[in-house]
Amino acid sequence: MGAADVSLVLKALEQLQLSDEDIAVLQGVLASLVQPGHCLRLIEEAATKNRSCPGCGSHRCHRCGHANGLQRYRCVACRRSFNALTGTPLARLRLRDKWLPYLQCLIESVTIRKAAARIAVARSTSFRWRHRFITAVRQAPRPQLSGIVEADETYHLVSHKGSRSLDRPPRKRGGKARRRGLSVELDCILVARDRNRQTCDFVTGRGPVTAGQLTRHLLPVLARDVLLVSDAAKAYAAFARQAGITHEAVNVRAGIRARGAIHIQGVNAWHGRFKTWLRRFNGVASRYLANYTGWQRVLDAAALTLPAHWLRSAVVSPR
Ligand SMILES: [Zn+2]
Repeated sequence: MGAADVSLVLKALEQLQLSDEDIAVLQGVLASLVQPGHCLRLIEEAATKNRSCPGCGSHRCHRCGHANGLQRYRCVACRRSFNALTGTPLARLRLRDKWLPYLQCLIESVTIRKAAARIAVARSTSFRWRHRFITAVRQAPRPQLSGIVEADETYHLVSHKGSRSLDRPPRKRGGKARRRGLSVELDCILVARDRNRQTCDFVTGRGPVTAGQLTRHLLPVLARDVLLVSDAAKAYAAFARQAGITHEAVNVRAGIRARGAIHIQGVNAWHGRFKTWLRRFNGVASRYLANYTGWQRVLDAAALTLPAHWLRSAVVSPR
């Protein structure tokens, strides 16, 4: 296209009086035009370090041609062939030139519908990609929490959104639990956070958290000498006693919010930010809840601020 053609396109654009949404769509289209092959290069670069066979874990493999733009490898030990994405949640997703613009949508917490419009893919694709890309980064090893570790749960009304079979009449968006208190109509989200802002989130199941669930989820991420701080729920005291962990409880319900450094305000602030952020999605299905807490963890920690960071993290995630 010559300079004269470019100026014609620019003149036409000026006359169109584009809305913000139109402009966002155009930005997405342009972003995917300027980066043909860029995404593939990032994928190959990320996978080059520490490449191993997703079938048997062997590091002995050799190149054997290309398929769909990606280098293929053959494992010397088990003879299986694979590429940089085999075994990751991104394997077999198509339209790779649109991945980076889509990851920008994830970084901006754009809704399924708007992301689909912005990068010109079907809504079903936008939905699938959201959950694949989040699953891929959510699988990264959890950090070890140290020093003072705050732990507390928050609850999310069980939702079968998108599910084909319901064992009760559908609720209109949102709604209320029928019973008061922490019934089995609530999904429990456990969050633990140390004073260095390292954060771990777990969806532990329906109803209040138990000592057994704390042992299963929390124990593996706690350094040996932590001081665990929680509210007065009995499960924490039982868990700490069994695990031999120093534990302090604040009786939040009795109006005691803090005793010096002994408080759970860091984790409660995280819950607050999560719930505020979640509102934009108009209801989240229980079976995807862990993806949303994981997504919020990535955003809240400002860990992956560029599409290329997110892609790299997704490609090297444990399989
Ligand atoms: Zn192998």
